[in-house]
Amino acid sequence: MKVLKYFISDMFSDCESLHDRFGPGGTGYGGSEEHARLNLLQFLIAIQKQYSHISTEAIELLHERLNIPVSQIEGVIDFYTFLHKQPRGEFDILFSDSITDRMLGSTGLFEQLCSILDVEPGQTRNDGRVCVGLTSCTGICDQGPAMLVNGRVISNLDNSRIEHIAELVDAATPLEEWPDEYFRVENNIKRVDILLSDMIIHGSAIEKMIASDSTTLLDSLEESGLRGRGGAGFITAMKWRFCRDAKADARYVVCNADEGEPGTFKDRVLLNSYADDVIEGMTLCAGLIGAKKGFIYLRGEYFYLLDALEATIQKRRDENLLGKNILRNQGLDFDIEIHLGAGAYICGEESALIESLEGKRGIPRKRPPFPVTNGYRDRPTVVSNVETFIAAAKIAVFGADWFKSAGTDSSSGTKLLSISGDCERPGIYEYPFGVSVKQILQDCGAEDVQAVQVAGAAGLTVPPTEFERTIAFDDLSTAGSFMVFNKQRELMDMVMNFAEFFCHESCGFCTPCRVGGQLLKNLVNKVVVGHATGLDLEEMSNIARVMQQSSHCGLGATAPNHVLDTMEKFPQIYMQRLANRGFEPAFDLDAALEESRQITGRDDAGAHIGYEPLLDDAGDQRGDAS
Ligand code: SF4
Repeated sequence: MKVLKYFISDMFSDCESLHDRFGPGGTGYGGSEEHARLNLLQFLIAIQKQYSHISTEAIELLHERLNIPVSQIEGVIDFYTFLHKQPRGEFDILFSDSITDRMLGSTGLFEQLCSILDVEPGQTRNDGRVCVGLTSCTGICDQGPAMLVNGRVISNLDNSRIEHIAELVDAATPLEEWPDEYFRVENNIKRVDILLSDMIIHGSAIEKMIASDSTTLLDSLEESGLRGRGGAGFITAMKWRFCRDAKADARYVVCNADEGEPGTFKDRVLLNSYADDVIEGMTLCAGLIGAKKGFIYLRGEYFYLLDALEATIQKRRDENLLGKNILRNQGLDFDIEIHLGAGAYICGEESALIESLEGKRGIPRKRPPFPVTNGYRDRPTVVSNVETFIAAAKIAVFGADWFKSAGTDSSSGTKLLSISGDCERPGIYEYPFGVSVKQILQDCGAEDVQAVQVAGAAGLTVPPTEFERTIAFDDLSTAGSFMVFNKQRELMDMVMNFAEFFCHESCGFCTPCRVGGQLLKNLVNKVVVGHATGLDLEEMSNIARVMQQSSHCGLGATAPNHVLDTMEKFPQIYMQRLANRGFEPAFDLDAALEESRQITGRDDAGAHIGYEPLLDDAGDQRGDAS
């Protein structure tokens, strides 16, 4: 293994050559030092991958080279789940802990592997060979249960696969020699519509842009009705126009590929098989707003897509579709860097993503100002979803009417859904907006359905009485997650899983989310174990309202949705578990006083908590409570 200081020196020289490729013309960087500082998180990820942790020595070296305080570097390491200051195992195994993985038996498989390998969950084994832990949804819900081994995904786990994996680990077999089929991830596309079926020639959207002017193309984009596919549904043309019109010496385009919402995996497929179209859309956006530089922010769980994405970017440079003077147009420069995330769901929020791109902890910024005027490096920045960029590229080529031919008046076009859970045919389904939940359930082979969770953990729980509702911005709006639960499922398992998820993923910046999420999780757990009372349910509603109304960002505001929704639509799952509908103390106060009674030698009625009024009806003292 390379000596640490040489490894870090190599990283810096790679970073400098990257800077030379992009800067300085139009990217706005103060110089390669600034570029290096902005890459702190990328350096940390590289060191983690090479040495299985980030040592004190590595932190010191980074501090010297980057002139960033040690405390700040340590703060970044502490923030991201995939970064560690203590060595991880030679095989660093993380089980995906999404509710759909659990429904497919991941908990038993996790315990099986820990037992065979004789390793404590979350701990590195004494010989340093292996550690086995849990992580949030890895985006393989259609092929679960899944795990990550040193960042590479293994799908379709079962008992025999777990036994073999344990043997491979104990024999220290390098990952390259593990069976190829373990690492196979299928696209699983089950239904296509206009977005996935109508293909464009690479470069054709850029040619349209060159032949037209930005106002005309942005008008066409607006006329198409394209709205962001990441869930918020902001009008894309408006966002891009705001960015174009903001005064600045540099602008940036960011593709948000931090697909972390549990149950969502459509970006995995798009990045795997439609990367050219994504980059075409980013290049179109860059040309329209005047950006020279773009980023793909790729979630750490999709590390295995990195090489193929890099290859696509390089191929497009070779084809003169990226880089300097694109398609021989003087001054049309644009290039893309891929930045990896490191296991932080909050970085899907656009301002947190920008903080992370700048190498910092992913704490959401105060808004306004919005990223379209004050984004990456405080410059105007467009952050759009993977699917949005593909749609924009195709609208530029085929026109607004092509796009509007699908969908509804308020929600034009199509939506990719990631369908998982209790159905015969999980996978990717592209539907025109306006499709009903009922139709989707029929298509994916779901029967005897108790509920559908639309839009992930932060979304809505839809009961059978609402299956006529539709996927649309003005009805059920979603980034794509669609999880099916049949009547044999305990819906409370989903509620508990989501409550744990939000507790883990809260960035901790604001009290309503940090503390409220923990209190809510404790109360959900109290319901699960059968100790909750009616008063606890009231308390859950109160905490949820506080979180919704006063959290700093959308994560805290949406974190209690599933609790409120299930309490309203599935009250029986709570009522049947209540210890009593009134009040029950959290612990036995009378028993707790036993020692005091023994010390004072008292055991009369007045020395017990159950002792009732001090005065009877006649006003006579009934006991000595002194
Ligand atoms: Fe962080 Fe949660 Fe507050 Fe958002 S709501 S800033 S995730 S603590």
